[in-house]
Amino acid sequence: MALERNMAQLEAYKQQQSSEQKNLTEKMGKINHKIAIISGKGGVGKSTVTVNLAAAFAQMGNKVGVLDADIHGPSVPRLLGLEGQIVKTDSTGAYPVEGPLGMKVMSIDFFLSEDTPTIWRGPLKMRAIRQLLGDIEWGELDFLFIDLPPGTGDEPLSIAQLLPEMDGVVIVTMPTGLSSAVVKKAITFAERMNMPIIGVVENMSGFVCPHCGKKTEIFQSGAGKKMAQETGVPFLGSIPIDPTVVVDSDKGHPFIITHNDSAAAKAFTEIVDKVQTYLKKI
Ligand code: ADP
Repeated sequence: MALERNMAQLEAYKQQQSSEQKNLTEKMGKINHKIAIISGKGGVGKSTVTVNLAAAFAQMGNKVGVLDADIHGPSVPRLLGLEGQIVKTDSTGAYPVEGPLGMKVMSIDFFLSEDTPTIWRGPLKMRAIRQLLGDIEWGELDFLFIDLPPGTGDEPLSIAQLLPEMDGVVIVTMPTGLSSAVVKKAITFAERMNMPIIGVVENMSGFVCPHCGKKTEIFQSGAGKKMAQETGVPFLGSIPIDPTVVVDSDKGHPFIITHNDSAAAKAFTEIVDKVQTYLKKI
């Protein structure tokens, strides 16, 4: 009797999973370009790159969505000044929150209470992500930028596996000796996912003094570029350490909009150009 009940529960769970996946595929089908942003480890500026890439494409007049798939440290709402926003829902599903430049934003953070760390267990975690993706009414979009969790382990891999037909992945790294090994792992990760690599971005690459304009190499700038050359992966560019990035991030503004004359924004524009060139070729 108990076995039959368990089997029935398992069957119901499988059906639910497959209907959630169907939902997800349907919703994702209305989005023209999907780009994931990954990093070998946390704190390298992955989310900063995600929101600024999204803002740059929105500024060009595209309909843009941003999905914060980093369920342990969701920071996209903070970076776009959307903390504490409420997600509107109806019988069809849930609607993304509207951010700067009309960007549609979704993050697990909108569903969590403030300052409460969330402990996700394996199956629940995947379920939350599948729902986050499949139940959201993104509508028709030109671009969806997806901020994946840091690292190259099972978790970002399983999340990435839920997402169909990715146009490509941008790898964000920092210029330290360690970064070569980390980027190598990120490349292997993308290959395992069958995701084409758009290229590598080296963030926090040197510090340009706002007073004298002189560049100081705080880490080993160039490590990301060297690594990209060695592995044959395109190098998209380096972003210097720039105090305006921190100030803008804390205020919830993408620096590419608010300080488009900053050292970081100038470097970032070149990266955006390269991503555009990549998209024209595919
Ligand atoms: P990750 O998503 O990789 O964990 P974040 O994008 O959250 O990293 O960035 C971590 C911190 O570093 C943030 O406070 C952000 O403002 C800061 N930061 C990112 N890039 C730069 C940069 N080029 N110059 C100065 N600060 C930066």
